Amino acid sequence: MGRRRRVVVAGGAGFLGGHLCARLLADGYAVVCVDNFSTGRVDNVAELVDTPGFELLEHDIVAGVPVTGFLDAVVNLACPASPQDYLRMPIETLRAASAGTLALLELAKATGARFVQASTSEVYGDPLVHPQREDYWGNVNPIGPRAVYDEGKRFGEAACAAFRREHGADCGIVRIFNTYGPGMRTDDGRLIPNLVTQALAGGPLTIHGTGEQTRSLCYVTDTVDGLVRMIEGDHPGPVNIGNATELTVLQIARVVQDLIGVRAPLVRLPAMADDPRTRKPDIRLAERVLGWRPRTDLREGLRRTIRHFADRRDPAVADRGT
Ligand code: NAD
Repeated sequence: MGRRRRVVVAGGAGFLGGHLCARLLADGYAVVCVDNFSTGRVDNVAELVDTPGFELLEHDIVAGVPVTGFLDAVVNLACPASPQDYLRMPIETLRAASAGTLALLELAKATGARFVQASTSEVYGDPLVHPQREDYWGNVNPIGPRAVYDEGKRFGEAACAAFRREHGADCGIVRIFNTYGPGMRTDDGRLIPNLVTQALAGGPLTIHGTGEQTRSLCYVTDTVDGLVRMIEGDHPGPVNIGNATELTVLQIARVVQDLIGVRAPLVRLPAMADDPRTRKPDIRLAERVLGWRPRTDLREGLRRTIRHFADRRDPAVADRGT
């Protein structure tokens, strides 16, 4: 019998990381989860800690990655991802995205492992091309407040491409579009946790800007499936992973209200600096090279997410989330 395949998941205690670790373990991989818990939580991997083959290492990837032994893949999810988090930790975000990514690339190179970089639709910035295809270079303000994240992720892509060219490293880049689902922090400031917690509380829903800006929302297990296909394939990317159903923020807010059964007023807040006006992935490349497409319909994904958030609330309001 062959040995068990072994993967490092950096940022494994985050929202996506927790789901990815669980999926990989279920698929028979051994998983080393490396996380400094800056935005992640033990809760996201609590159910995995006793699973054979799971190791949890509290560590900052900026200081190198002390993992020994053979590795089949290194997946880099380690970076604050919610605007609220990276605007609060701008320098840490730049460090994680630059020095941290380089340290993980060195680990992959030393072990001959495949490296998968979680990049983002934010590399397209406020896009001038719609929908966004992988050969579009983006429209990013390099000195705006969001640049720590957007440019950090662009650096990460450049680093993968350089390691591939210079060292023949086996790197694959996925550009992940807005993903939502159980496991997000209620207070992480992203669209779905905001809307769902506000609607469950029965209060007004806050919308930044006009609400006419669009988002394409992908359910977490679909995104994770795309990541696993990238880990198991050999495509260099970049490959968009996202749901191509595009809705305005106002439409999304109404679906959330509808599912929870409340009709509270919508309150407009000032638009966020450099907030993209449109977002919609062209996913034909993912379909062709990964055989991937999202499977979960928005209402079904939101139902599961609402149930998750409701379970963490006061029991008196929890039943609204079913
Ligand atoms: P998250 O904040 O929940 O997870 C990030 C994880 O990385 C956290 O557990 C955090 O503690 C850890 N981390 C941060 N800096 C670290 C460091 N220096 N050393 C070790 N660990 C560190 O965010 P998420 O939504 O799970 O996103 C995961 C990855 O996917 C991020 O790289 C993000 O850029 C990318 N991504 C996510 C989305 C999305 O919609 N969720 C979209 C595009 C890209």
